[in-house]
Amino acid sequence: MKNNILTDYLDQYGIPYDGYRLEQLERFYELLIEKNKIMNLTAITEYDEVMTKHFLDSLMILKYHSFSDGEMVLDLGTGGGFPGIPLKIFLPEVSFLLMDSVNKKLDFISSVIEDLGLKNIDVCHGRAEDLARDKKYREKFDAVLSRAVANLSTLSELSLGFVKVGGCFVSYKGSSGKKELADAEKAIELMGAVPGRDYEYELPGGDKRILFLIEKNTSTPGSYPRKAGTPSRNPL
Ligand code: SAH
Repeated sequence: MKNNILTDYLDQYGIPYDGYRLEQLERFYELLIEKNKIMNLTAITEYDEVMTKHFLDSLMILKYHSFSDGEMVLDLGTGGGFPGIPLKIFLPEVSFLLMDSVNKKLDFISSVIEDLGLKNIDVCHGRAEDLARDKKYREKFDAVLSRAVANLSTLSELSLGFVKVGGCFVSYKGSSGKKELADAEKAIELMGAVPGRDYEYELPGGDKRILFLIEKNTSTPGSYPRKAGTPSRNPL
């Protein structure tokens, strides 16, 4: 098995895995690199770097938060499938929806789902601002996850409308995370949520990361999110 760098860190962080999951990650790596030749899915392509900066990073939430079987999880702005695909591989009994505004990225995700034979996972095309107002999706998810999509203030407006009262929004951030949280406090409150715990970690190579868990405790007012484009142009 090639992926020693990943298993070393999963061992270190106490995240359980098995041969089948590692094979699925390996296959996802092959599909990602192949498709990346013709469309822009990732700037990182070197094997060890994808294993750590994409796969390990996506999986880190498993060290800090437990997902229950049958829960509904949304990956907002999934792009090439992060964190949704690695997490789905590790959480076969949790339902995932992978959302993005770019349809051809979702075509790639659909081909990955089919190739890996993943179940209880679907894709959804559209802008979060519009979809969060759709009854089918509003306040329907136990957890919404998002990595590298927007600043935390904008992202709180995009994501929290999807979260059930009692559920949480998990934001994957880099070194600017703490400052972003300070700027996002008002947006989080307006959306009916409060900042919960945060978890700092370092990826192999030294990149600093932080996960914010934002807890939704009251229903989001009907006026949010505002219309498409406004949350990023004019953050709350
Ligand atoms: N989460 C992935 C991709 C990050 S790039 C990763 O960590 O690698 C950001 C992605 O978010 C892009 O694919 C973009 O199309 C999507 N996105 C940005 N704004 C969005 C919006 N308002 N609604 C839905 N998707 C959005």
